[in-house]
Amino acid sequence: MAGALRRPLVAGNWKMNGLAGSAAELARIVAGARDLPGVDLLVCPPATLIAQFAAIAQASPVGIGGQDCHAERAGAFTGDLSAEMLKDAGASAVIVGHSERRSGHGETDAEVRAKASAARRAGLVAIVCVGETRAQREGGQALNVVGTQLAGSLPDGATAEDLVVAYEPVWAIGSGLTPTPADVAEMHGLIRAHLGTRFGTAGQGMRILYGGSVKPSNAKELMGVSDVDGALVGGASLKADEFLAIAGVYR
Ligand code: PEP
Repeated sequence: MAGALRRPLVAGNWKMNGLAGSAAELARIVAGARDLPGVDLLVCPPATLIAQFAAIAQASPVGIGGQDCHAERAGAFTGDLSAEMLKDAGASAVIVGHSERRSGHGETDAEVRAKASAARRAGLVAIVCVGETRAQREGGQALNVVGTQLAGSLPDGATAEDLVVAYEPVWAIGSGLTPTPADVAEMHGLIRAHLGTRFGTAGQGMRILYGGSVKPSNAKELMGVSDVDGALVGGASLKADEFLAIAGVYR
């Protein structure tokens, strides 16, 4: 999953969906990826499926990722998984700081940053999620909120090869609502400026994904916004046809 030239990336977050039988859906994605040489594809299934999916996607252009990891390598952390374990199971990337982890599990920026650092340590690409709530946007706080999340959540020393930022307005996730292209452009411009200030030229090569109710019908418009380098897709990533149609924007 090379990032230096900002090759587009379309990543699917399956959340807590999928059983062993879902491998057929992944196989369809792997088959469809052959017709999409201009875009990196990543599927992030539940951790129970990573090893099985990695075996299916082996030697294909489709990467497999985790949805979360613990900051430590190993230890007495019941129920948690380390970045090294995800890597060992065949993952090449991991989502950290998703809003459902930040709100449902109380994850702070500092914890997200530690998880992103762990991903780098393990040789995984960290996809760090940021985004404002509806109240924060309506209160005119969106840019400030995301700026603070970026400052606190991104790991030191990151490179274009191991860090991806996903802008996911919380109010757009699973709601069918999306920001206007102008709002997306404003936010992605702010994120790009932040990455440049923090990481220098590496920051220019880091991919910034948009996420939140991306579907085949709106993907072209959203992916066409400046500094949008791909998508993080939830619901629409569960069906191979829809996921491939979104990635097909980069055909
Ligand atoms: C997500 O949760 O990362 C997401 C983008 O979900 P959806 O596409 O379903 O809005």
